[in-house]
Amino acid sequence: MDGLLSKENLEWKYRVREIAEKFVRPVAAKYDRAQEYPWEIQKALAKEGIFKVWIPKEYGGAGGERILNLCITVEELARTCGGVGVLFAVNALGSFPIILGGTEAQKQKWLPKLAAGETLIAYCLSEKGSGSDAASMRCRARRDGDSFIIDGEKKWTTNGSAANLYTVFAVTDPKSKTRRMSGLLVEKGTPGFTFKKFEDKMGIRCVPVVESHFHACRVPAENLLGGEEGYGFRHAMGTLDQARPGVAAQALGLAQGALDYALVYTSRRKQFGQRVIDFQAVQHMLANMATKIEAARQLVYAAARAADKGLDNLTKLSAMCKLYATDVAMEVTTDAVQLFGGYGYMCDYPIEKYMRDAKITQIYEGTNQVQKIVISRALMKEATILQSMLDPYIPQEKQYVLDEGPVAPEAAAAFNVPAVRE
Ligand SMILES: Cc1cc2nc3c(=O)[nH]c(=O)nc-3n(C[C@H](O)[C@H](O)[C@H](O)COP(=O)(O)OP(=O)(O)OC[C@H]3O[C@@H](n4cnc5c(N)ncnc54)[C@H](O)[C@@H]3O)c2cc1C
Repeated sequence: MDGLLSKENLEWKYRVREIAEKFVRPVAAKYDRAQEYPWEIQKALAKEGIFKVWIPKEYGGAGGERILNLCITVEELARTCGGVGVLFAVNALGSFPIILGGTEAQKQKWLPKLAAGETLIAYCLSEKGSGSDAASMRCRARRDGDSFIIDGEKKWTTNGSAANLYTVFAVTDPKSKTRRMSGLLVEKGTPGFTFKKFEDKMGIRCVPVVESHFHACRVPAENLLGGEEGYGFRHAMGTLDQARPGVAAQALGLAQGALDYALVYTSRRKQFGQRVIDFQAVQHMLANMATKIEAARQLVYAAARAADKGLDNLTKLSAMCKLYATDVAMEVTTDAVQLFGGYGYMCDYPIEKYMRDAKITQIYEGTNQVQKIVISRALMKEATILQSMLDPYIPQEKQYVLDEGPVAPEAAAAFNVPAVRE
């Protein structure tokens, strides 16, 4: 497995693993129960320089394979706590719009602070009425001299209230079909920007998810992402291509973490006078879990490499790895609970949390049904390209239908029927 990663990737992986074991695993249950942001973990990650990983080197980042190393980081964190995995990854989600579409001044201003872990960021796209159909959003931003005034609500802002910076997507031109929305950077504390509802969640409980409300909220025009109106949808979707491998990595880490526990528990637990792991049925379950995890890992790494190299097939690979790894996480964590028997169902032990944390990965950053739409669109494009090559080999027989007027001459020749019906 590790043979497919470079020395640099592996060094990063083992470094994050050590940090996760030291700072995250021992307190994961505590913050999950309290549903409280673990500032001690955030501070430790910032001190260790982990927030640098996805930021370009010229803006204080680590350089190298940014997305692959981001995925490796999220995988290792989520292996010990899914909530901490997203607590970290959501900062990449929030800052990709700046990296992809920000002006030079916006990059210079924000990226070094994000790399240092001094500034935390959130991504505000979804609303109560628009989730999968993000383009139908209602939150409005109007130009007013040197500012924009934002009015509206955003739902499910992960990292909301903890973050100091928010990438907010709002409608700037309601009449436009192609350039309807824009991205704006809004700082916490801006008058008119408040958090209303702190969600009580099934999983990822240590990271806050809130409603963000904007009422006559004035932000300087220099905070318009990219400096030009109408590119919000492009920035939002481009961001998801870069960020979905990170959600997949969260799922991967959860699945691996649950398998780790299942291996140890079944090796210790004895029933019918032998270790549970010595039953062949259990061995087969573990083998299936491990195989799915490994397949997911290779797909996640492939998508991450496609993002790092800027390959054309990123959108498809990114959706595929999100779809596959998150489904695997749900299956594997559920099987892990099963292998713990009754103890698996108890909140006294960590395993049930893996299953709760895994569920959200199938929903956010595009539900898995939406990933299938994205993948299918890519496949339909491929079908058009393949057509000229494969046309001669596929059935194309034409049906001769009575009573439908004159038969076209070429069909008449092909089917040996009269061109004019009698
Ligand atoms: C804990 C949590 C954290 C989140 N964090 C963020 C965040 O930080 N920033 C942010 O912007 N958003 C965030 N979200 C929002 C998340 O991305 C949306 O919940 C998700 O995109 C789905 O949107 P929806 O909930 O409105 O569901 P809907 O879009 O209403 O979907 C309902 C169901 O219909 C299905 N469906 C919808 N359209 C289709 C279709 N065309 N074909 C087939 N099936 C379809 C969906 O798959 C789903 O099963 C978060 C959500 C949660 C729960």
